[in-house]
Amino acid sequence: MKLNIDPKCRICQSFDETIDHIVSGCKVLAPTEYTERHNKTASYSHWKVCKHYHIPTEDRWYNHKPEPLAENENVTILWDFTVHTDKTIGANRPDIIVKDFTKKSCLLIDVAIPSERNTSKKIFEKLSKYKDLEIEIQKMWGLKTSTIPVVVGALGLIGKEFEKYVQHIPGNINAEQLQKTVLLGTAHILRKVLSIN
Ligand SMILES: [Zn+2]
Repeated sequence: MKLNIDPKCRICQSFDETIDHIVSGCKVLAPTEYTERHNKTASYSHWKVCKHYHIPTEDRWYNHKPEPLAENENVTILWDFTVHTDKTIGANRPDIIVKDFTKKSCLLIDVAIPSERNTSKKIFEKLSKYKDLEIEIQKMWGLKTSTIPVVVGALGLIGKEFEKYVQHIPGNINAEQLQKTVLLGTAHILRKVLSIN
């Protein structure tokens, strides 16, 4: 329209300001806004797992503040915990680690909220990222270890593979609740950014 308008992102000034960029691609928003949306989504999953193992928690998930360590005689649930291994491993801090002593299993749960077009890619990225850690944990703790990627697009998309992985999380994670949490986070980010002149 021959208007003299700068198309660059009003926050980072480095990329064109598309919806896609604001909701999942802006480097400046990543450490604050995206992290907050991510943690809220991960803490819903954490709350579900706690409930499943009868660990006392808040009645409502959105009031839940995950403790670094929650445990009872059957389970240890770690939040944002760095696993120290003999071998140096790049990816050693998944969002949630569930050590189930009855089943002798260990789950590495990791949440990601990428742009819609990257959801499938992200699932496989997570699976390969934690391979080394799975092997080390299996050796150290003697628990059969697997990775569960929880990947929801910033606009709520879940891929075909989503259910296949998420159903292994104890506590019956509700896909719709996850999507809703992500969408509310995204709406909040959009509203905030677009109100800046
Ligand atoms: Zn930006």
